[in-house]
Amino acid sequence: MSDCSRQIAAALGRLALFWRTALWQAVAERGLNPTQAEILGHLARRGPSRQVSLAAALGVSAASLSDSVASLMSKGLVARHPDPRDGRAVQVVLTEAGTKFHAALPDAPAPLLGALDDLPEAEAGAALRTLSTLIRALQEARAIPVQRMCVTCAYFQPHRHAEAAAPHHCDFVDAAFGDAALRIDCAEHEETTQARRAIIAARLAAVG
Ligand code: SF4
Repeated sequence: MSDCSRQIAAALGRLALFWRTALWQAVAERGLNPTQAEILGHLARRGPSRQVSLAAALGVSAASLSDSVASLMSKGLVARHPDPRDGRAVQVVLTEAGTKFHAALPDAPAPLLGALDDLPEAEAGAALRTLSTLIRALQEARAIPVQRMCVTCAYFQPHRHAEAAAPHHCDFVDAAFGDAALRIDCAEHEETTQARRAIIAARLAAVG
């Protein structure tokens, strides 16, 4: 491992520690733990979900997920409903109170968002692209669950346009966009094949 890789890993560790500490504090003040907050966030972004899907998406065990859902139910923030696609299965859904509760949670620590807002757009876009590449590599190594990112999406066409500010194309919305608009968690994401994910990665790396 190069020294640069070690330094980047250390920097990411510092940011993760800061983020986790700030998140713990924000949700603890509201009587939740981070997994419970993640469940609310996932349901708010993606809608109703089966417990097995929730556990896979959040990278937690079925037992841990079940405990967290039970605790959220006792607080009136989520409920279990029959899955309309399969009456024998059950989905976890946000209640009205859960929707309001989630809307009041911070997206991210304010000092971090402030520092990111101060970055020039090109620098922010380059950072987002690099982070997307790292997350994709972790996903390919099966170190983290599947993430709903542009760089693994069937609708993503990297560097389809000559326009430097908006070289990529999203076939879902049929629009061009730049690195700064790459998505890490998109509701419309459709996972593409491993072969095409590799082609996307090679294209992004080649064009830079
Ligand atoms: S559908 Fe979403 S994830 Fe896929 S390319 Fe479009 S914006 Fe990116």
